Amino acid sequence: MKLFGTSGIRGRFKEKLTASLSLNVGKAIATYLKGEGEVVVGYDPRTSSQLIENALSAGLMEGGCNVIKIGMVPTPLIGYATSKLEAKAGVMITASHNPPEYNGIKVWNQNGMAYSPAQEKEIERIVHEKDYITVDWDNLGSSYHLDITKMYMEDVLEHVKIEPGLKVVVDCGCGAASHITPIILRRVGCEVLSLNCQPDGFFPGRNPEPTPENLKDLMNAVKASGADLGIAHDGDADRMVAVDDKGRFADFDKLLTLIAKEKGGKIITTVDASISLDECLKEVGGEVIRTKVGDVHVAEALIREKGSFGGEPSGTWLHPEFSLSPDGIFSALKLVEIVSKKGPLSKLLDRIPSYHNIRDKVPCHDTKKGNVMDKVRKQLPKQFKEKIEKDNIDGTRISLKDGSWVLIRPSGTEPYIRIRIEAKDEKTAKKLHNISRSFIEKVIRGL
Ligand code: MG
Repeated sequence: MKLFGTSGIRGRFKEKLTASLSLNVGKAIATYLKGEGEVVVGYDPRTSSQLIENALSAGLMEGGCNVIKIGMVPTPLIGYATSKLEAKAGVMITASHNPPEYNGIKVWNQNGMAYSPAQEKEIERIVHEKDYITVDWDNLGSSYHLDITKMYMEDVLEHVKIEPGLKVVVDCGCGAASHITPIILRRVGCEVLSLNCQPDGFFPGRNPEPTPENLKDLMNAVKASGADLGIAHDGDADRMVAVDDKGRFADFDKLLTLIAKEKGGKIITTVDASISLDECLKEVGGEVIRTKVGDVHVAEALIREKGSFGGEPSGTWLHPEFSLSPDGIFSALKLVEIVSKKGPLSKLLDRIPSYHNIRDKVPCHDTKKGNVMDKVRKQLPKQFKEKIEKDNIDGTRISLKDGSWVLIRPSGTEPYIRIRIEAKDEKTAKKLHNISRSFIEKVIRGL
């Protein structure tokens, strides 16, 4: 069984993720690190998280590594702690935005960047071949607890200059940032109203995925309270999404463009980002570089290209001046900083041109995804014959003559083939959507 997807190991507890797998992954990481040094371990509030943390930590110690347990924390604190404490690696137990029965394991390097696919492959090989190096009683690792939250918050605060007085509604979805984002926003002088800010692995307030459908309460609360903006995270708070002062969900591409324009320079984004980013960046003399979907590809390009900002249109934002991990909390403060100086948010977003977007997903079993994508690469629908460009950076992206484009790619974390359409008008977008969806359904049926 393939262990790693686009965001570490991810699966339903008891089916894919078990205590014994977690123990083995801990042993494999220790083996990969030659049983040396410290490993930072943290977890999100899911009901299975502590169990996985214990099993994985036991594996790390059996392999000779010391474990620094930083407790229930948002994912961005793992990359941060790993690099600040100069640990050999960091491990986060989380399934991000997936439903509560899921969990996952993601590994970080000392520089604060998540493991690359090549590093993950090596961990996977060690697990599959049971190629573990374990140590005897006199070399076992030990563990200790450390609260890194205060240090993190002070460090974030040194990177922002916010004019006080904004009213912000924060919805942490009962996830891992519940005890950080509302507090840090109050520290910078915001009036904060909190929603779902008590950590709870059942996610009783809302689904942990911060989509417009799941954030109706936040949108209503922003409107009803006359707030300047609303902020929401996914379950582990590596993502940040926003609601403007009119109670509207901020379009991901517009948010990406807004922050990118503020930063200027080389902007790294993924193949699924809107072309409006390129158009707006041209105005300020910036440049856009696209990578595969996945924050580690964005982080690698940020280092390679000396980028100033990296973002994926899923609410994933990377600020290299602070960290090489996507950070929903830092991003929330950066957005509040922009609004405090240049707001209101609705006006800032409305100034950015928008195209018509459709995001959809077609159910497809994980084992069929490879065959589906092979077929998609070879035989596109005849309606796409006027395509001007096709690239396979990640999935298949077809650029059409009128500027519209279609991206078909397998989800790295869920059993779906994802479709992303962008067109200058709704009619074209809908037409392209219908063609693409029925084409993929036909390919899946034919397998
Ligand atoms: Mg996440």
